[in-house]
Amino acid sequence: MANSRSKAFDEVLNRAPMHMKTPEKRVSEYFGENTFHLDKMRECLTDEAYKIVKSAVEHGTPVDRTHADQIATAMKDWAISKGATHYTHWFQPLTGSTAEKHDGFFKPIGPGKAIERFEGDLLVQQEPDASSFPNGGIRNTFEARGYTAWDPTSPAFVIGKTLCIPTVFIAYTGEALDYKMPLLKALDRVEKAAKDVCHYFDKNVTSVGATLGWEQEYFLVDTALYNARPDLVMTGRALFGHSPAKGQQLDDHYFGSIPERATAFMREFEYESHLLGIPVTTRHNEVAPNQFECAPMFEEVNIANDHNLLLMDVMEKVARKHNFRVLLHEKPFAGINGSGKHNNWSLGTDTRVNLLQPGKNPKSNMQFLTFFVNTIKAIHDNADLLRASIASASNDHRLGANEAPPAIISVFIGTQLSKMLDDLEKSIKAGKMTPEDKTELKLSIGKIPQLLLDNTDRNRTSPFAFTGNKFEFRAVGSTANCAQAMTVLNTIVANQLIDFKKNVDAKIKKGDKKDEAILKELQVLIKDSKKIRFEGNGYSDEWVKEAEKRGLSNLKDTPRALDVWSRKETKNLFSGLDILSNIELEARHEIELENYIMKLQIEARVMGDLAKNHIMPVALEYQNILIKNVEGLMNVLGAKEGKEAARTQINFIKSISKHVNAMNDKTNLMIEERKKANAMEDLREKAYAYCDNVKSKFDDIRYHADKLEIMVDDEMWPLPKLRELLFTK
Ligand code: ADP
Ligand code: MG
Repeated sequence: MANSRSKAFDEVLNRAPMHMKTPEKRVSEYFGENTFHLDKMRECLTDEAYKIVKSAVEHGTPVDRTHADQIATAMKDWAISKGATHYTHWFQPLTGSTAEKHDGFFKPIGPGKAIERFEGDLLVQQEPDASSFPNGGIRNTFEARGYTAWDPTSPAFVIGKTLCIPTVFIAYTGEALDYKMPLLKALDRVEKAAKDVCHYFDKNVTSVGATLGWEQEYFLVDTALYNARPDLVMTGRALFGHSPAKGQQLDDHYFGSIPERATAFMREFEYESHLLGIPVTTRHNEVAPNQFECAPMFEEVNIANDHNLLLMDVMEKVARKHNFRVLLHEKPFAGINGSGKHNNWSLGTDTRVNLLQPGKNPKSNMQFLTFFVNTIKAIHDNADLLRASIASASNDHRLGANEAPPAIISVFIGTQLSKMLDDLEKSIKAGKMTPEDKTELKLSIGKIPQLLLDNTDRNRTSPFAFTGNKFEFRAVGSTANCAQAMTVLNTIVANQLIDFKKNVDAKIKKGDKKDEAILKELQVLIKDSKKIRFEGNGYSDEWVKEAEKRGLSNLKDTPRALDVWSRKETKNLFSGLDILSNIELEARHEIELENYIMKLQIEARVMGDLAKNHIMPVALEYQNILIKNVEGLMNVLGAKEGKEAARTQINFIKSISKHVNAMNDKTNLMIEERKKANAMEDLREKAYAYCDNVKSKFDDIRYHADKLEIMVDDEMWPLPKLRELLFTK
């Protein structure tokens, strides 16, 4: 045989062993070497310029033109010393990936003469030809051009021969066209709000920062096998494929030893990541075969997010060198665990206190409790927004699929803390508190660190779990830009903290002591947010029923989840904090609907092509072989005896016809629905149609294809099978 599958296998078997490019030095010696961070700037800038850039990095203050020139020159010289010939503004358009447009440093200055040039204005602002980036109608409405603007808080870096400068991407009329801009605003708001609340407990806190530690899951597939699967190439997931006999039932992959080829890949991408200052520290196998995870030390959210985007890029580049392709899709293989990107989140002060870590004295425990309870209340009030922040065509396959958190948002805090909140709710009395009341309360709050020490509860089925010193948002998709989830989370917490402070201050004004006012307000929050707390099995059917009883949303698919962007409350929240205007929100809603439609449209087309051009022809070819065999037997043995001898083949022939016909009918039906959907003008309506009428046919079509896969001669099957994609090491 010489079909695409067998050719791919020949290639895999003939692979030369991969030699790792291992660095001789220790990580600490080259960590961050390819980034232009503050220490480097100190070496090459005047004291004054350094002071200005340091303040820009740490406090977001502007950089004037003269100093921008100086910084640009230093940055260029450094980049050239690293071998860079080009520079680019690196930004995060709403397509989901990052974008860059490279320009040379080189500038001709006369016949046969050139210099390397890079000035302040090129560092600070540029105008990419961005007409092809999604803008949700903003640019049409305003006839505005977009520009990118330097984000000095995230260090510039050199990749290959290019200096990359992290930037935001904005329309000339001021609207954000990217993920970074609203994130930076949300972070600013939460940091201010948290600082104000911190001052109830500690006046020495001068700044607060939100932190993010993501955990990136992914699959590795051999390049040759990947290339023989048009569905993987075009959509990132296998649209067809019978489940392998052995899946992950044995759980033998998790924390098992990492295969040698994968290790070689990991070592190299970790090395590249470390050069870029990405603090990846952890690597291990995941639950499914050929699935892995890597995680860094947590960082300030904006930097952590830039690092995640960069890492996904580096992973893909390095993987190709190792003849692998990285699958970042949330659900590349039906029936096998999908991939997520847990977002561990907390708030930390410049006095090095983690606000979600209980402290050693009553005051710091009260502070912990305050941030803890306010976060829960924020999730309670904005669960639908949080759900919308993780909605995508690909994440729809994973959420609620009995291996990932359901689409219902809830918060897990463990039995001990739950009991503690319940007790607090009961024991805080209305009216003036007696000294005994207060002592009792303080005692119970004082027990928090003890509670957590014993707290071994690890509920893996919760979408939003407290894990001892941080919250872990587990429902974020593996392909996602974390900025979306982080913008929403930090916005809703900021809003809640502002509200909290207002109410506590009002109570103090009315004569309550500070502690008393805080406790009373916490009591209200605990009571009002109760229904979002869930300690049981989030994967169970009982929870779906229970959640419905509690009145929690279960927004199962993206178009429905995205509707929340156009709610009045959403607009009030985001415009109230000046994070996203109504126009920006509407634009985002549109872009996400467009992305959703586009993804499903591509999947639908690939599915149709594969069904009709790859799978059906091979099934019919095999059927022809069977028909010849039956005819032969009847020739040799006579009609009656021959037919009897060919019983199995005849059944197969019929069965193949049955599945081919059904598959063809269902594919045609799907194509019909696709055409109807494509003719729709209204984006929301179109997305709903794609979801309800097109995507809903995928499983039917696949069912018949997968039946044919186990019926047709293995030698003839054109697509590498799931078992081969998953178990080839
Ligand atoms: P797990 O059992 O989920 O692997 P870990 O304690 O190893 O738990 O932490 C997982 C992630 O949480 C890591 O990426 C780590 O950097 C991150 N993390 C730890 N502390 C914080 C924090 N204060 N803020 C944000 N992320 C954090
Ligand atoms: Mg985790």
